[in-house]
Amino acid sequence: MNAARFALRGVVKSYPGRGNGGTAALAGIDLDLAEQRVTALTGRSGAGKTTLARIVMGFTRADRGSVRYRGRPLEEAPQRRFRRDNQMVFQNPLLACDPLFTVARVIAEPLRALRLAHDGSETLAVMEEMELPPALLGRRPAELSGGELQRVALARALVLRPGFLVLDEPFSALDDLTALRLVRLLKAACRRRRLGALFISHHRRHIRELADGEAVLERGRLIAAPG
Ligand code: ADP
Repeated sequence: MNAARFALRGVVKSYPGRGNGGTAALAGIDLDLAEQRVTALTGRSGAGKTTLARIVMGFTRADRGSVRYRGRPLEEAPQRRFRRDNQMVFQNPLLACDPLFTVARVIAEPLRALRLAHDGSETLAVMEEMELPPALLGRRPAELSGGELQRVALARALVLRPGFLVLDEPFSALDDLTALRLVRLLKAACRRRRLGALFISHHRRHIRELADGEAVLERGRLIAAPG
């Protein structure tokens, strides 16, 4: 049961306007992201991590090479189904939160957006999983701590019952204790739900706790692949 969910081959991506002869953000990436495994992605700032994450999520197209999703070209994946099954979590949880929405609305928004039936029980279940007390349901994002807000963002990502998460430095804005607590909550959720993930992080301890393998990017090239 370790088939690749995502298989990248020869993926190249350049951005315009980076000067003549500028190196590509991704310069030929071969990478498999297995089902039900957490793959850490590390590397210096500017190495291409976010670009790779965006390509996996289908937010950015590669210039060259192929990205296959469950054995078929990613661009042929049915959009709605893909959005349900693959969710992204950002470093800044405010990106996932409309400041005018209550916590209840923020978490249920993916269900609403896909017009899926929901009665509030789904929201409560993922809040409990992320150890968010129901008393927070009526709060607005600005009334939450950074850790609470990121737990709301994780709950929101889980509410559609995805099979894969792409996490772009989700804990790097948090203090050490809060971050470690979230790493453990996320780890438990991954185990319970048999989730796979691409986990961008610089934090050795978090990677050790959460990841099954590690890929290292350096200037657009993979210098270590997950085992
Ligand atoms: P990382 O996530 O590892 O910090 P990124 O994928 O964000 O790396 O960036 C890789 C390279 O591509 C960097 O040199 C960055 O400046 C450049 N880059 C990223 N996004 C854009 C963009 N939208 N336009 C132009 N250059 C970009």
